[in-house]
Amino acid sequence: MTQNSCFWSIDGPASKSYLDKPLPDRTDVVVIGAGFTGTSGALQLAKGGARVTLLEAQSVGWGASSRNGGQALSCLHHTLHSLIKVHGREQARAMFLAATLAADAVEQIVRDENIACDYVRCGNIEAASKPAHFDEFKKEQEILRELAGYEVQILSKGEMSPELDSTAYHGLMINPRSGSVQPSKFVNGMALAAERAGADIHEGTHVLSIERIGNIPAHDGSRFIVRTDRGSIATREILLAANAWVGKIVPQFRHRVIPVESFVIATEPLPNDLAQRLIPHNRVVYDTRNVLAYYRLSPDGRMVWGGEGTFVGVNPRANINTLRRGMIKVFPELVDFKIDYYWSGTLGLTLDENSHAGQVDGMWYSMCYVGHGVTLGTYLGQQMANGILGKTSNNPFADLQIPTVPFYREQHWVGNLGKVWRGFLDQIG
Ligand SMILES: Cc1cc2nc3c(=O)[nH]c(=O)nc-3n(C[C@H](O)[C@H](O)[C@H](O)COP(=O)(O)OP(=O)(O)OC[C@H]3O[C@@H](n4cnc5c(N)ncnc54)[C@H](O)[C@@H]3O)c2cc1C
Repeated sequence: MTQNSCFWSIDGPASKSYLDKPLPDRTDVVVIGAGFTGTSGALQLAKGGARVTLLEAQSVGWGASSRNGGQALSCLHHTLHSLIKVHGREQARAMFLAATLAADAVEQIVRDENIACDYVRCGNIEAASKPAHFDEFKKEQEILRELAGYEVQILSKGEMSPELDSTAYHGLMINPRSGSVQPSKFVNGMALAAERAGADIHEGTHVLSIERIGNIPAHDGSRFIVRTDRGSIATREILLAANAWVGKIVPQFRHRVIPVESFVIATEPLPNDLAQRLIPHNRVVYDTRNVLAYYRLSPDGRMVWGGEGTFVGVNPRANINTLRRGMIKVFPELVDFKIDYYWSGTLGLTLDENSHAGQVDGMWYSMCYVGHGVTLGTYLGQQMANGILGKTSNNPFADLQIPTVPFYREQHWVGNLGKVWRGFLDQIG
């Protein structure tokens, strides 16, 4: 029987609760949202000596951060090749290198804060779903080497089996600097670290609105009043880390950030020898389709499979079957293994499919990492905190415009429609 619950939240010790604590009247920084962005930002702020209050509507990691694939990727959603076409060589290079620094930042935090989250620098595999995609790998390998001094390995179809025991692909690109984490343990570990450093964390605290205190700060330096369902807080600075839900509290993002649901299954644990044969080096994997599959083995040997053409509002059985079919196409031997868990999570996406971080109306924000938030959320949360602290901050995403989504009025089916369109492109491309 498949459980409708996230495997990562069941795996491991119960997380600490931060419910029902009295809210402060005032603080230096309010961080809104306790995912990777918010917990990492709060950790950096508290370490930098700021009074920081982290507000989470539900529980730590409740958004995408505790439910994702746990792929800690050392790259961006867009290839360096395509970034150059839009942003030019220098900015594209800076954006790509930020992603590699983001992968390092995850490792650094895990080490410094001693977070038990099954972190491994295992590398990731990108699998070519079409022959033309393998040709793109060759171009990407060259430009990565030339412009960023960055090495990836590519393997043709005939060379794939030491990395992936499947005939479904047309070659692989391996990025050795990526890693994997158990995401729920990682985000909860960062919250604990932030609290140790002095951050004040409040779960079950929904931010309803933000009010600016005129043009001149109050006598104590406060510039904003943050109103929540449990009371109000005066603050000098705000870090918006609410990702898919940011448009509900900041009108400028309302028609720009679209929540999109992604669905995942986890099988029962596989026999050791089979698991090791399917993905011999235990790397994390995704393919090159527009509507892609991402997958990996869990530390206890389950195949965790997400993405595919799954939709909001349909019977869970339909999504489970779609995910299972996709998995069996790649690994036919998994046909007889039970699906133990099924769950979903919400990503924030923008039309340009870039990460976005910077300042809006005097508030700091970081969001929308297009399936790369384990590393980028952690890193950019930290960088925005550096900005707030008046330190040097690396943010090559600062000047990117966020396109408006025409006619978008929070309709749930918009994410579904996007997947249908992208699936169509996969068919004809
Ligand atoms: C199923 C799935 C698989 C994924 N796989 C991967 C992967 O393998 N690798 C990868 O890098 N990325 C992956 N991602 C993306 C990654 O999980 C996200 O980019 C990342 O978690 C975003 O972190 P965040 O802190 O910005 O947002 P979130 O984790 O979504 O946190 C935002 C938080 O803000 C809170 N909040 C919202 N509004 C308010 C409010 N008004 N008041 C108070 N709190 C509020 C929410 O409750 C939520 O907890 C995946 C995402 C999903 C859904």
